[in-house]
Amino acid sequence: MLIDTHARIHDYLRISLTDSCNFRCQYCMPDENIQCLPNKHLMQVDEIEQIAKTFVDLGVNKIRLTGGEPLVRKEFPEILSRLSRLPVEISLTTNAVLIHKYIDQLKAAGVNSLNISLDTLNRDTFKEITKRDQFPQVWDNILLLLDEGFRIKINTVAIEGVIEKEILDFVAITKDLPLHVRMIEFMPFQGNHWNSKKVVTASQMLKWVEQEYDMVKLKDEPHATAKKYKVIGHEGTFAFITTMSEHFCCDCNRMRLTADGKMKNCLFGSEEMDLLGTLRKGEDIVPFIRNSVLRKHAVMGGQFSKSYKGADASELKNRSMIKIGG
Ligand code: SAM
Ligand code: SF4
Repeated sequence: MLIDTHARIHDYLRISLTDSCNFRCQYCMPDENIQCLPNKHLMQVDEIEQIAKTFVDLGVNKIRLTGGEPLVRKEFPEILSRLSRLPVEISLTTNAVLIHKYIDQLKAAGVNSLNISLDTLNRDTFKEITKRDQFPQVWDNILLLLDEGFRIKINTVAIEGVIEKEILDFVAITKDLPLHVRMIEFMPFQGNHWNSKKVVTASQMLKWVEQEYDMVKLKDEPHATAKKYKVIGHEGTFAFITTMSEHFCCDCNRMRLTADGKMKNCLFGSEEMDLLGTLRKGEDIVPFIRNSVLRKHAVMGGQFSKSYKGADASELKNRSMIKIGG
């Protein structure tokens, strides 16, 4: 079992399969000409399997594949199939533009829940945010996944200037569709031009929804990052991920593995443990994993001492989101 010095059990691993992507979301991939890692620096299929198995032996019971965009990794089906043999729940975070190609493989691997990023319901705004005119394909794929029986959570970054206009539309789509829309407060990462004035908080968003709808607060899942609500009579739910205005570190069970095999014990932490390098030297990675967990800070990677309002993004030591894996 992996327990840190704050008595938190760590049983959830997010594995980034690549730092490249077919979209160009500014808040995530700030530099459009960003250099992607050469293949030899990426964890190879056998290495991913071996590292994942080590984590499972240490008590991990849930693995999320992410990126960059996990579906652009050409070995995605093979990686999924290998990991599905481990005794873990597997899920995926994706922009969904390619997902129609992988329905059978997802089912075969026992994946039944997916997180899909969608920051707008407007085709032109989608093109502005992602630099790709792919809204129709993404939306069709969301409907396809629902038809195929997958549970779908929509991740919507609350982008200032966009969310104000669209939050009610996002809540409206939960009326007839069993979608679970989660509004994520904008987070700072290297180069993404974050400042605290750009954070639209959950409480602001909640006020806008309350003015329009009668709703109820739902019980949150264990270790949940999202505070869940439901409009009375709607099929789906909506929620807020309050990373900036109200962190949820006290209950954190998450660890991350970057595409180049570095373990991060916190999304905001600057420390990395080189598991891939250690594995390639033929050494045991278990002490490095345990050490990383033990070094985990109580709150926000030790990088925000005050409220987010006092944070200076230029002082944060971290990768860009696309290089971490969300
Ligand atoms: N390409 C996949 C996708 O977009 O779902 C997976 C990787 S993406 C880095 C994972 C998640 O991180 C997405 O839901 C994205 O919206 C979120 N994300 C990226 N940058 C963020 C930021 N600055 N603040 C909040 N969420 C962010
Ligand atoms: Fe790509 Fe996802 Fe980042 Fe957008 S949020 S650039 S889709 S990795």
